[in-house]
Amino acid sequence: MKNQFKTLRASSLYCQKCKIARPVRERLLLVLPDKEIYDYLCTECGSSVGSREVKAAETSRPSLII
Ligand SMILES: [Zn+2]
Repeated sequence: MKNQFKTLRASSLYCQKCKIARPVRERLLLVLPDKEIYDYLCTECGSSVGSREVKAAETSRPSLII
């Protein structure tokens, strides 16, 4: 079972290692021209419990053609 996020910021997620819902911290994993990818880490064991993509279209960035 995978965790999928839409727009909500997750504060607590189920950790498969801890086998319980743990507070998580958000880490900016990757910045791409069209989106940013955030990683969620368990604050207890540090393992990744999920990720979230934020599309650049969601921010009001003007589209540039170079
Ligand atoms: Zn954990």
